[in-house]
Amino acid sequence: MKYLKLLVLFAIINFNLNAQNNSNLKSNKQKEITYVIKNVNVIPMTKENKVIENATVVIKDNKIYAINKSIPKNPTIIDGTDKWLIPGLIDMHVHTLSDGSPFVMYPTKGPLVSFNTQYNMTPYIANGVTTVFELGARPEHIGQRNEIIRGDVIGPRIALAKVIGGNKSNLTAKTPSDGRNAVRFAKEEGYEFIKVYTWLNEETFKAVINEAEKQNMKVVGHIPIAFKGKEAKDFFVPHFDLIAHAEELSKQTDDYSYEKAQEFARLAKKNGTWLIPNLSNMVAIEKQAKSLKNIENIQGFKYVHPLMQNKWLTSNSYYGASNDLITYYKELMGFHILIVKAFKKANVPMVAGTDAGISGIVLGFSLHDELKLLVEAGLTNEEALTSATRLGAEWLRIDDKIGTIETGKLADLILLNENPLEKICNTRKISGVFVDGNWIDRSKIDIMLSEVEKWNTANKEKYDWKELLNSLKN
Ligand SMILES: [Zn+2]
Repeated sequence: MKYLKLLVLFAIINFNLNAQNNSNLKSNKQKEITYVIKNVNVIPMTKENKVIENATVVIKDNKIYAINKSIPKNPTIIDGTDKWLIPGLIDMHVHTLSDGSPFVMYPTKGPLVSFNTQYNMTPYIANGVTTVFELGARPEHIGQRNEIIRGDVIGPRIALAKVIGGNKSNLTAKTPSDGRNAVRFAKEEGYEFIKVYTWLNEETFKAVINEAEKQNMKVVGHIPIAFKGKEAKDFFVPHFDLIAHAEELSKQTDDYSYEKAQEFARLAKKNGTWLIPNLSNMVAIEKQAKSLKNIENIQGFKYVHPLMQNKWLTSNSYYGASNDLITYYKELMGFHILIVKAFKKANVPMVAGTDAGISGIVLGFSLHDELKLLVEAGLTNEEALTSATRLGAEWLRIDDKIGTIETGKLADLILLNENPLEKICNTRKISGVFVDGNWIDRSKIDIMLSEVEKWNTANKEKYDWKELLNSLKN
């Protein structure tokens, strides 16, 4: 038995090494190039964040090799004159489209729909989003991450949170012992984080969080509806590390006052719980509720996979809401803005996340919407940028690798045509992106985007959401 285990382990290791070797031939080619960005204004996003004007930045071996030091031989020069360099952005709440679950029709049957991983990832890269936190992680996302790491696909770094407490495809847990087992399974399957979900009962919610702490897994998630009507201090359980949307708080109360927002902020501060405000989600919901035309006009809609375009337009669960409901969405938005203000005042860290992938929220593009909304809600431009760079890296515990521009960090960078500290929408004016040391300039970004658009247009007619659902019933 022991021998067999060893044999299997060896086979796995051997396989991985082979995969790695193949990819080295392909992807590391570009990494052998040394890049020098000359005369660039560096916004390091460190705590002090002192802008370094007219700097020389060397990128070598996928790292930030030197800032204002001597230049290695034969570099490829990038002119940074009048440009601004910021760390790659982090979206802390995404749901990237991945191959459909097999739906167990018969053994060996593959997914009903497959997706091109590069096309899924291109919108992130085109928008300078170089790290994402997948909050609905499945084995397929591990596969996507492997494709990126192998160098077969240009995409962001992906952190994975496994959902516990959903009501169908995710791990359900009805008792504390179910919950603890689910956490241990998730750890064994290779997920790094746990996402607690809406349908957990109180005891199971607490057990999941406690077990996650034992397994050294941080917890992000929803606040179960089981807490509705109870005191807020009940759900601020120790090691509930991150709330997935401000909406989770507004769902727990009918009191949308600033005082209530302050109470949440005080409790979050005391408990060490951070917040993803996720304002863009609320705006997208309201837009869709009012008109389907609004969806087609969302920036980046043409880069959304045709199946999802079709779903958002033909099976949209928000569209057609009553005026009362639309008024309620506006009220919620008002309260979420108060929450952001109160959390800022109480010094509770907030990280930028968008729920990208769900109806009406386009991967990559949506993070720039979120930054703008955070500033409108009262964050400074610098605070908004911090929420999408250094703080995200800190929460994910990879701040020794990414999140700031410092010598020795991995080269995830965005070269901007204008200063985002002056105007937050300047984060959209992208001249090029370094993804793990690979330089993707504007012309390459445009080519990558047009490839997605072309494919989407050519294949539009092949995808019908309702038909797909019907085929599952048969
Ligand atoms: Zn989500």
